[in-house]
Amino acid sequence: MATQPVHIEQANAGTILHRIGLFGHRPAGEPEAHESAPAASTKAERRARRRLANDIRNFLLDHDLEITPASLASAHEVCSGLNPALNRAVDERKLECMPLTAQWLAEVSADSSGGGDRAVKDLAKKLESGIEQLSRATKNVRLATTEYGDELERRVDDLSGPLDQDQMIAGLADFAKAMLARSRQTEEELRKSELETARLRENLDRARRDAEVDYLTGLPNRRAFEAVLNAEYGEGRTSGEPLCVAFCDIDRFKAINDTHGHEAGDRIIRVVAQTLATICREDCYIARHGGEEFAMLFRGLGRADALARLDAAREELAQRRMINRRTDKPFGIVTFSGGIADVSSFADPRDALAAADEALYRAKEGGRNRILIAEDHAQAA
Ligand code: GH3
Ligand code: MG
Ligand code: MG
Repeated sequence: MATQPVHIEQANAGTILHRIGLFGHRPAGEPEAHESAPAASTKAERRARRRLANDIRNFLLDHDLEITPASLASAHEVCSGLNPALNRAVDERKLECMPLTAQWLAEVSADSSGGGDRAVKDLAKKLESGIEQLSRATKNVRLATTEYGDELERRVDDLSGPLDQDQMIAGLADFAKAMLARSRQTEEELRKSELETARLRENLDRARRDAEVDYLTGLPNRRAFEAVLNAEYGEGRTSGEPLCVAFCDIDRFKAINDTHGHEAGDRIIRVVAQTLATICREDCYIARHGGEEFAMLFRGLGRADALARLDAAREELAQRRMINRRTDKPFGIVTFSGGIADVSSFADPRDALAAADEALYRAKEGGRNRILIAEDHAQAA
């Protein structure tokens, strides 16, 4: 399973599948099953839509924003978590205790839409031109070497003619000087080109990593998770190894934000991320899926084993008594709920995610602070 970066930092969003566009989402080119008569939305889809609508409403009211098409679009981007760069900018703005005004949001939205991808593309282009420059510099070096060789040959030929020693020595000295100067110049060009290429490559690697890392928790983000889920699903189909997916959502998190403030809420998100990360060994992959939600993949574990592993983290967190260090007020008991589904028993990993989301919803309805297993759909193709 892919190695798991665990350094801690953000994004934002509300609850799971629909808000992030997974329900009903088909890869480009893949036809919808019922194009002419779209199927009625399922209970889970309607619930996810309602949650997203609530988050958008709360976001607009919390930040005292006018209800305009532009502010609605920005709120949708923030709450759906579809634009991690915007979430990051929003979080930084909050940390600086600056207001989230409509104008600021519009500017940042415009700058950041598709930001991660754009940064990677821009850097890739720069790296390409850096490599071209490096190859030009290498060609120059080769050319210069050939030219020295030719010139040297000519001078050696001159030696066989009538000799004026002083003239010959002065000529050779001039030649050696010119050769040295040119070598130094080309060496310098080559060195600069190499440095620039290495710097660009490093920036590109970093931008690629950033596009897949959640900046609040340091965990992989939803984009990274989806890529790993698809890859693991394919591998699991070949190897026959079990694969389980889990969705976790912090319980009554809005109350934590309301009582302690958004920044303290962010710290709780980090603590939960760390707690969940501790149960992740090389057979487990965890990502921040959005807002206060985490997605996990367990490879080689059946549903009961995945449940036992996740339940240990749930229990550990529920036992802790955390205090807000800035105010000395207790956070109370912080818990999360989860839903688990066996990916290998579904014909499409997205159906397994939907089933885990459904189980999570039942865990919430059943009183929270619990993990439930999705009903056995056994829809394998
Ligand atoms: P439930 O037990 O049903 O999950 O209740 P809840 O209050 O946790 O549920 P809800 O999804 O309604 O609230 C989640 C809140 O999380 C809403 C949103 O303002 C907040 N939130 C989302 N992302 C972030 C974030 O990055 N930082 C902080 N501090 N809050 C966030
Ligand atoms: Mg939630
Ligand atoms: Mg919640």
